[in-house]
Formats: sequence, structure tokens, C-alpha cells
Amino acid sequence: MATDLFKGMQQGGHEHVVFCQDRDSGLRAIIAVHSTRLGPALGGVRMWPYASTDEALRDVLQLAEAMTYKAAVAGLPLGGGKAVIIGDPRRGKTERLLRAFGRAVESLGGRYLTAEDVGMTVADMEIVHKETKHVTGTSEKSGGSGAPSYLTAKGLFYAIETCMKELYGDPSVRNRTVAIQGVGKVGYQLAELLATADARLIIADTDAQRAMLARREFEAWRVEPDEILQVECDVFSPCALGGVFNRKTIPKLRCRAIAGAANNQVDRPADADRLAERRILYAPDYVVNSGGVINILVGLQGGRKGYDRAKAERLARRIPLTLLEVFRKARAQGISTARAADELAEARLREAGAKKMDGGARRAAPLRKRPVPTKARRKIA
Ligand code: NAD
Repeated sequence: MATDLFKGMQQGGHEHVVFCQDRDSGLRAIIAVHSTRLGPALGGVRMWPYASTDEALRDVLQLAEAMTYKAAVAGLPLGGGKAVIIGDPRRGKTERLLRAFGRAVESLGGRYLTAEDVGMTVADMEIVHKETKHVTGTSEKSGGSGAPSYLTAKGLFYAIETCMKELYGDPSVRNRTVAIQGVGKVGYQLAELLATADARLIIADTDAQRAMLARREFEAWRVEPDEILQVECDVFSPCALGGVFNRKTIPKLRCRAIAGAANNQVDRPADADRLAERRILYAPDYVVNSGGVINILVGLQGGRKGYDRAKAERLARRIPLTLLEVFRKARAQGISTARAADELAEARLREAGAKKMDGGARRAAPLRKRPVPTKARRKIA
């Protein structure tokens, strides 16, 4: 285990990984700090019934690394981190456990800033806040920035418009068909924005109630979860799972573009090339789902004055500009859009490292290439 841990950390270039346990509450958590080069490592805490510690470790390492790239490509003064709590959020979540997690975050002294993620809510973050100030995404009532999912959905909507412009020369989504996989916190709000703009919607969710609700509210066409990947559409929007696109699934796609909220959508770098070969325009996940992080950053910067919603919306408007830069770079260099986004993020990280060393005169050590993720990549990111 220890050998694997150092191998995983070395491959990913992680700075810090902390295992936390609390006997009284039953807390078992891992906090991974990937990089603090640009600022404190921000990343949500996910509660999930991982089958093994290895699985949880793999997930937290990959997700923390993706957070570094997300903040860097968006030009935000934040690093990347993530935390996972091993357990079932429907049964194992207690105040004692959340407070024990809060103390673990506090012990890192602000190196890691936590927030809500899958299996967690704003109310949970309020409890974590009782033990640490290094928590974001608490309710607007208590001076926080609230749930980040609205701005994530908004940024995603702008990204879909950008894809339309790139494909058809017109950003309007009117009468365009968007297939949404997962109508949870982000997917549902995205569906609302798209329906208001007269897009046609196809949706699927493993939670039948959520799917029915979205179908009714937005006059969407509902298909089964195992059918959504293959529907004919302008945009396919994965808003549920990571690891959606791989050798087996890519040949089945019948979309012109991909833009969704899920983290780590592409299994391996070669799969991003496969998408490009099929002439499917892939809007890289961490470029288009950065609305949530932007929301959190604005909450942090607000300090005592509180959260500035207008500022957050203004910053989310930058997502299409970054995406256009990614598309341009990919075209000019004949590389996949995923590779282009990685290179932009890495350039920003190098620049920040060089500035830190001596005002930019010396180059920072080169960043390692992003590793080829293992086949066993988590499917729930
Ligand atoms: P969520 O848990 O609220 O929603 C996910 C939805 O997907 C649920 O309704 C679930 O039933 C459904 N689902 C699960 N498996 C499915 C499958 N196989 N097919 C169809 N539906 C399925 O999560 P969320 O906050 O909406 O986030 C969605 C994704 O976006 C997650 O991967 C998350 O990590 C990522 N993300 C979220 C934010 C945010 O602000 N919430 C920001 C960045 C990235």
C-alpha cells in the first residue's frame, strides 16, 4: 500500500496526501493536495461507498490533479486538491463524522480548502464549518457562496453555445438537440437553461424520479440510461459519470460535440484522439465545468462583505474565451482539444513557478506529462 501510494503521488506530482481516521465517529477519509503552486489547494469532498481503500486513493489522486488543471486553465489563483470520505452518504453521514472531517481539514492549516461534492450538501458544509474556517460553499445566508452547481450549469451553457458557434457559425441553441446524461444538481439546471433557450432535450437518469421530473418540466424526451450515449444529437452532455468515453463507447456516439460537467470524462489520452478522429468536437471537462470553482473563489474573495454574485457571473463569462483558445490551439497544432487544454494549463503553472523562483528570470522545473490513467479508472467522477 505504502509503495503504491508513493508511486501514485510521484506519477501525479502530488505534494501531500493525508489519511484521516476517527474511531468515535467512524471517519475514514483521504485528503490529497496536488499542487499549491498557484494558491491554496481547493477541491470538494466526496462521500462514496468505495469498495476498497485503493479505489478511494486512486479517485482522490486523480480528482485532485484535475482540480489543479481546472484552476490553472481558468487563470484562477488556486491550487488543486480533493478529499474523499469512505462511506455511504445515505446512511453513514453523521454530525460527529462531518465534524471529525472538519478537524482533519483544520489540521492542514489552510493548505487545503474544502467544498461540497458528490454525496455532500451545503448543509453538510455548514457542519464542517463548525470545526474549520477552511471550508467554502456554505450557505449565502451565513456569508458563503452557496451551492456551486448553478454557476457550473451556467458556464456549461455558455460552453455549449461556444460549441454551436464553432460547428455551425451561430451560437444559438434554438432547435438544437442536447442529450443530458444525469439530471442531478448540474444537469437539471442545465436542462432548465437550455429549455428556456428553446433547445430540444433528451435526458436520462438512473434515478427514475429525477428523470420523470425533468421530462415533465422541460418537455424533454426521456430515454433509458444505457441508451443516452447513442442518441442522435448536436451535443452530448455527460453530467453524471467520469470515464464515459473509451474505446468501446466512442464508436457508438452520434453527436457532433461533447460538453458536460462530469470530471475525468475521457478514459485515456488516446480516447481524446479517437474523438478527434471521429470529428466530434470535445469541450474538455475541466475547462467547461469551472463555474463551480469560480463561484467558490468569489465567495472566498468576498470576505466579510460576502458573496458577489454579479462578479461570479462575470468571471463565468470567461469560460467561452478559454474554450475558444483551446479550440484554436488544437486546430493550429493538429492535437486533440484535451491535449491543447492540458498544455495551456501546464504553461500557466510553469509561468507561476518561474515567477515564484525569481521574478520569472528562471524557468521552473518542467512539469511531468499527465500520466496515462489506468484502466481501472473510477466511473463515478
Ligand atoms: P449529482 O449527484 O447531483 O447528479 C448526478 C446525477 O447523475 C444524479 O441524478 C444521478 O442519479 C445520475 N446518474 C448517476 N449515474 C448515472 C448514469 N449511469 N446514467 C444517467 N444518470 C446517472 O451531481 P452534480 O453535482 O450534478 O454533478 C454532476 C457531475 O459534475 C459530477 O461528476 C461532479 O463531480 C461534476 N461536477 C459538479 C460540479 C458542481 O458544481 N456540482 C462542478 C464541477 C463538476
